[in-house]
Amino acid sequence: MKKPTFLILLISFVTMTSCIQKKQTVDLIVYNAAVYTLDTAFSKSTAFAVDKGKFVSVGQDATILADFESTQKLDAGGKPVYPGFNDGHSHFMGYGLALTQYANLVGLTSFDDLLAALQKFHKDYPDHWILGRGWDQNLWEIKEFPDNTRLDAIFPKIPVVLIRIDGHAVLANSAALAIAGIDKNTSIAGGEIILKNGKPTGVLLDNAADRMKGFIPKTTDIPKINALMLAQKNCFAKGLTTVTDAGLDKEDILLIDSLQKAGQLQMKVYAMLSPTKENLDYFFPKGPLHEDRLTVSGVKLYADGALGSRGALLLKPYSDDPGNPGLQMEPASYYDSLCRLAYENGFQVNTHAIGDSANRLVLDVYGAILKGKNDLRWRIEHAQIVNADDMHKFGKFSVIPSIQSTHCTSDMDWADERVGPDRIKEAYPYKQLLEENGWLVNGTDFPIEVINPLYTFYAAVTRKHLDGTPDAGFQMENALTRKEALYSITLWPARGSFDEDRKGSIEAGKDADFVMLDHDVMTIEEQDITGISVKGTWINGKKVFE
Ligand SMILES: [Zn+2]
Repeated sequence: MKKPTFLILLISFVTMTSCIQKKQTVDLIVYNAAVYTLDTAFSKSTAFAVDKGKFVSVGQDATILADFESTQKLDAGGKPVYPGFNDGHSHFMGYGLALTQYANLVGLTSFDDLLAALQKFHKDYPDHWILGRGWDQNLWEIKEFPDNTRLDAIFPKIPVVLIRIDGHAVLANSAALAIAGIDKNTSIAGGEIILKNGKPTGVLLDNAADRMKGFIPKTTDIPKINALMLAQKNCFAKGLTTVTDAGLDKEDILLIDSLQKAGQLQMKVYAMLSPTKENLDYFFPKGPLHEDRLTVSGVKLYADGALGSRGALLLKPYSDDPGNPGLQMEPASYYDSLCRLAYENGFQVNTHAIGDSANRLVLDVYGAILKGKNDLRWRIEHAQIVNADDMHKFGKFSVIPSIQSTHCTSDMDWADERVGPDRIKEAYPYKQLLEENGWLVNGTDFPIEVINPLYTFYAAVTRKHLDGTPDAGFQMENALTRKEALYSITLWPARGSFDEDRKGSIEAGKDADFVMLDHDVMTIEEQDITGISVKGTWINGKKVFE
């Protein structure tokens, strides 16, 4: 009796094992790759299987090819593969609109070049307001704010509004100022109307700039859709699979949502709410939203302006403008009440703070509500100048720094003129900020900087211009390692929006968002990092760029 039972058991065991060993069919297998998984151990593998938009298994070629089969097998030829890049602070729609609706003034080195660009724009769009974006007086021979005399001479009737590179200042002609009702007697809290000889120059800072921007005729849905589609195309070509939009209104978020659901917009978006009553009334009662491609879990506030236009709020006045400490956008009570409202509704608060005084203000408002360590992931966007007495508050209240390492390299030639030799030591302190919580979020703030996340990576590790200067790098004690820089553009920004359980690393169960490069950012010579190109970008296992 015993033997046959044993035999039956043996036969059924063999049948079961062969069943288990039958290969599982999946949508895609990638093998012969150098896969940086960005898991917690920073482990590497060579292959993975993807099914129904998710990674189902990650491992070595032999195992993956033995366990899975697919009609789509991709031999990566040894190329490096990383989780899809995530820009933790950008302006996705603004970038698209800047490409399609504004004259591009980025990098122009004289006011004459700027006028030429506007005349061309006016020829292309004769009925349009003349809109431009990206001027920077720091690139001109005379590094002072311009005035609108020459704009008025060329464009006496049609409104002209030109947004500075940092978005915190505009230059408007008299026709535009008249429409916005701004004259020499106007006063706007948290803003400044710059006068010369008692007359407005057309340069408006921060809240005054925002007042003017509010009068620009609203773009309808069609140009917005075109802008988003173009922005998406350019971002895919740089390996981005998630972008942030740091400040959107309800109607734009709903437009993005509808385009994503229709399959038209495949880009994943972390949308921060602009703090209008309409936006908050609509989204706060619903609680944080985490859909397949859209996250709405935070509100964006502004504490101050930017350093380039001297709107950043400093504890002591500007070294190159004594008497001017910069601008606080709203009274402290405003931040306190909005933060409490977000707290009660379970939303993140992400506040723009650049100057040391603005960072102190925000850390103290956050601290009074958060009280100690927590996992609410309230963020400070930029965190550019942090006084030594305030640095520890990032750790104490678990406040997440959201940095842009290219801002450091864009500003490093002139920032010391603004803040002087002592405060510059407290500027762009990324390594110190990282050490406070063990992680941070990195991004570009595009269209202020170019969209390429490898520029972010390069700037974080080298703190040099693209041409390799300065030789020794800028304040290298605050450089990040390559490993930290890679986390800062993949897993950490996903964590910065509470999406790390489904994005940011190549691990079974997560969304199959990944990018293949032609060279390895972890090993290539430093000067060649920004020349690396993207071989392919995949979102939810689907190829979106080749
Ligand atoms: Zn921004």
